[in-house]
Amino acid sequence: MSATHEVTNQVPPLVDADLADYPVLLEALEREGAGWASGELRELGRLAGSSDMQHAGELAERHPPVLRTHDRYGHRIDEVEFDPSWHRLMTAAVDHGLHAAPWADPRPGAHVARAAKVFVWGATDAGHLCPVSMTYAAVPALRAAPALAASYEPLLTASVYDYGLRVPSTKRGLIAGMSMTEKQGGSDVRANTTTATPTGDGAYALTGHKWFTSAPMSDFFLTLAHAPGGLSCFFVPRVLPDGSRNAIRLQRLKDKLGNRSNASSEIEYDEALGWLVGEEGRGVPTIIEMVNMTRLDCTIASATMMRLGAMYAAHHASYRRAFGARLVEQPLMANVLADLAIEAEAAALVAMRLAGAVDRAVRGDAQEALFRRAGLAVSKYWVCKRAPVHAGEALECLGGNGYVEESGMPRLYREAPLPSIWEGSGNVAALDTLRAMARQPESVQAFFDEVALAEGADARLDEAVARVRKELGDLDDIEFRARRVVEQLALVLQGSLLVRHAPAAVADAFCASRLGGDWGIAFGTLPPGVDTAAIIRRAVPGGVA
Ligand SMILES: Cc1cc2nc3c(=O)[nH]c(=O)nc-3n(C[C@H](O)[C@H](O)[C@H](O)COP(=O)(O)OP(=O)(O)OC[C@H]3O[C@@H](n4cnc5c(N)ncnc54)[C@H](O)[C@@H]3O)c2cc1C
Repeated sequence: MSATHEVTNQVPPLVDADLADYPVLLEALEREGAGWASGELRELGRLAGSSDMQHAGELAERHPPVLRTHDRYGHRIDEVEFDPSWHRLMTAAVDHGLHAAPWADPRPGAHVARAAKVFVWGATDAGHLCPVSMTYAAVPALRAAPALAASYEPLLTASVYDYGLRVPSTKRGLIAGMSMTEKQGGSDVRANTTTATPTGDGAYALTGHKWFTSAPMSDFFLTLAHAPGGLSCFFVPRVLPDGSRNAIRLQRLKDKLGNRSNASSEIEYDEALGWLVGEEGRGVPTIIEMVNMTRLDCTIASATMMRLGAMYAAHHASYRRAFGARLVEQPLMANVLADLAIEAEAAALVAMRLAGAVDRAVRGDAQEALFRRAGLAVSKYWVCKRAPVHAGEALECLGGNGYVEESGMPRLYREAPLPSIWEGSGNVAALDTLRAMARQPESVQAFFDEVALAEGADARLDEAVARVRKELGDLDDIEFRARRVVEQLALVLQGSLLVRHAPAAVADAFCASRLGGDWGIAFGTLPPGVDTAAIIRRAVPGGVA
């Protein structure tokens, strides 16, 4: 057969790269006290970038989980079947301690090291990081029930992925889920109608439904239900200590926009047995311990996606030629790529700073706990909010190729809205910042103390800080203005971090565009004079070709 044409001007795949090779991440790792983990991080970065693991991620997405409600004889089995690639991804994530290592080895920097690993490993597949994140987040909440924690924390933190429905105490490692959202309300969990009736022997019988419960093959769920003393948090295992199935029925799996490798289910509790975690009536404060941790992971996940988008776009543009030059050399494309890279860098920087705050707060640092309270609410709102629009623009940098599944960009695009919905959708995250202001005004002071560390370094930052302080001083219509205020808070925090820690080219372009207003509405509207080459270079492992 004769060759019809030669394939030219197509871009080599970005495979077998060390995905930890991102200066923003490596510098933050050192700064936030986890430099000791850099060797492990680089090893994980090479694994995440390997063609083998990239392929596993693609397979897990392409072959989503399947619910098996009944066996061939009609008995309920409530099982979820996964592609083997899912189990490979979970095994690697658990092996590397992404699900819980900081709780087992709480040395300074442990949560920072884990955050950096989640950031890097997120390049394989976002879906499996859902149960990984919930397991990590369940540990501090479960500690509100010391007896349960004594039995199960060692298994939650074990570096063994032991899949299958068996009595939790007989397994070598456990995975946990979270069951709050019901049909009539997710943000407003107090609208829950699931009931918990004491059985008289220390347990409760839970009856009701949950509209979203991801990772339904988990070994147990932390579940909200109304006990006689009010809304409470329960430990609900899927298999009871006597080996029988708990009465949890998996009704359906959601047919989701993205996050397709992960199973998200609708479930019914039919007098399922649960054990109280924390006090009766204190369900929300108890489960908030878990939510705080998963909110950090939402922020990390969005930062990961923006880093990936910027990286793939810059990689593509550094090879693809149009009109006689590489795209990366075309001034307007350089503007788009640099703008995307700045957004990604600001997101990664703030995510890692918050991981540092979590790390120090967990070890008793009160000032860092206050900073985390306001800083996480603000950043969960803004970083997660930026990811979808960022993904759309990054995809377009690949032209038509970016619209094709094989490029991986559609998957990124579909995934991008999720962290903003989960664990407090945009408005709820913005309103949570107002709640922090009202209930813990010291947290806002701690926030501004952090921002002030860059005071005097850039006039545009100083002016933006003065503006947002003024906005906060006026409480009229504050709920209506919440997004405006929180956006400004997020930008001054990112600006402060960039001014202190990023190269001058990045910090200057950020301050000019995001704080100084010399910017358009779409990406690619940076003002002239920006050192785009210096900014773009940082986005691709090993630099731009
Ligand atoms: C893929 C996926 C997986 C999930 N997994 C889980 C899980 O494992 N466990 C679990 O418990 N839940 C899970 N959820 C549910 C998720 O946490 C909720 O969807 C989310 O909290 C929003 O709740 P809702 O869907 O009921 O929306 P609603 O609460 O109805 O909110 C709808 C919109 O109204 C806004 N809104 C709400 N209150 C206000 C207000 N006071 N002022 C202004 N705006 C407001 C929200 O920001 C949102 O934009 C999952 C969701 C998805 C999509």
